Amino acid sequence: MARKIGSRYTAHRILGRGSAGTVWLGDGPEGPVAIKLLREDLASDQDLVERFVQERSALLCLDHPRVVGVRDLVVDGNELALVMDLVRGTDLRTRLERDRRLAPAAAVAIAADVADALAAAHAAGLVHRDVKPENVLLDALSMEGPGGAPPALLTDFGVAKLIDSPSRTRATSIIGTPDYLAPEIVEGLPPRAAVDIYALATVVYELLAGFTPFGGGHPGAVLRRHVTETVAPLPGIPDELWQLIHQCLAKAPASRLRAAELAARLRELLPALEGLPSLDIDEQGEEGYAEYEHPDAGSPDGGEGTEAEHSLSGTGAVPAAGGAVPLVHSRVGPDANRDTHTSMRVPGEDELAGGAHGTARAPRPVGEARAGSARHRTAVRRRRLKIGVAAALVAAALAVGGWLATADEDTGSLPAPAHGYSVDD
Ligand code: ADP
Ligand code: MG
Repeated sequence: MARKIGSRYTAHRILGRGSAGTVWLGDGPEGPVAIKLLREDLASDQDLVERFVQERSALLCLDHPRVVGVRDLVVDGNELALVMDLVRGTDLRTRLERDRRLAPAAAVAIAADVADALAAAHAAGLVHRDVKPENVLLDALSMEGPGGAPPALLTDFGVAKLIDSPSRTRATSIIGTPDYLAPEIVEGLPPRAAVDIYALATVVYELLAGFTPFGGGHPGAVLRRHVTETVAPLPGIPDELWQLIHQCLAKAPASRLRAAELAARLRELLPALEGLPSLDIDEQGEEGYAEYEHPDAGSPDGGEGTEAEHSLSGTGAVPAAGGAVPLVHSRVGPDANRDTHTSMRVPGEDELAGGAHGTARAPRPVGEARAGSARHRTAVRRRRLKIGVAAALVAAALAVGGWLATADEDTGSLPAPAHGYSVDD
């Protein structure tokens, strides 16, 4: 089922599908390539085609060993194709689905490669905006590095930006994958380089934990958590590694590391991480939420844990019980929907302010459910019911009191409700 793409390329078979289109194995004048054919509705969007052509030179000039190079942009009738370097291997999502969690050295080696790619892009004035495991390709043909991780390459540069046009998203909408979205994007600020660092830190966390720090449940809830919640250390995570993740998940973009420094700091950690097993996190949860005991959950002071717990050798198992942390839906079952770009309404200020209790991993009293978990929702429902019953009793008492008062004055009929309306309205 070979098909011609423009005059120079032929697509042979499908390598994968994403939300923006389908990626084909193809060939061109210089040998094998990967060809991303954009979805029909995207390809027929005149604005998008124009921006594609405008961005052409920026995308084509990004030449770095850790970036999947874009070789050509083809506009052919109703078809819009990105011709890329072919990477023989899998994407990081597939690897994560297979292994569930990566050993710290492998996770850090992959993250350092991605940070290198980001450093090159940021230096060229490009922000990726969609850093996530699906957009990290693992080169199976090259020698494996630390922790058995193959070299990683970042792909899909500029695609999020191209797709995110005013005609496609209203002023109040944002585009991106909710789990990896930096809080400043949720708050409507323009995405700068620091959003990629936040997304990469989220990926590192996910590689170590098997789930993202703020994922799980409704996209609106995920967005709110990015803005209002903080993460506590993963059980058994080496302290230096945690400090890096924590700093790059800072709510304030300026507090995060720059890509080049992050790459260097991650590589510095590698020798000490070599040989450590993946973190032992029990995920027997309810409704897509993983249960595990926070290292501090049982301590009377709920403090920061001991030095030893967070030292480089502190990767011991932590018994499960107590707290619940969210799992990203797609990780619970088969990855049925690999959406790259989710169009969402930006939550209002009141929505952002309300509803978030505690932190995603902050110590909570033992036995108390995490905000958003099924147990928490049941508790909230019960509490609401109690409040509702109490409010109804108070209202009834007031109404009876009011009636008694007015009945004395006039005919004894109930007073009209304060917010009543008449047929003349
Ligand atoms: P998404 O929209 O989810 O980011 P993509 O359309 O970028 O997905 O890619 C879909 C799949 O195609 C990827 O998960 C990967 O397996 C494969 N793929 C993408 N780009 C390349 C490439 N340059 N070389 C080899 N395979 C690729
Ligand atoms: Mg992609």
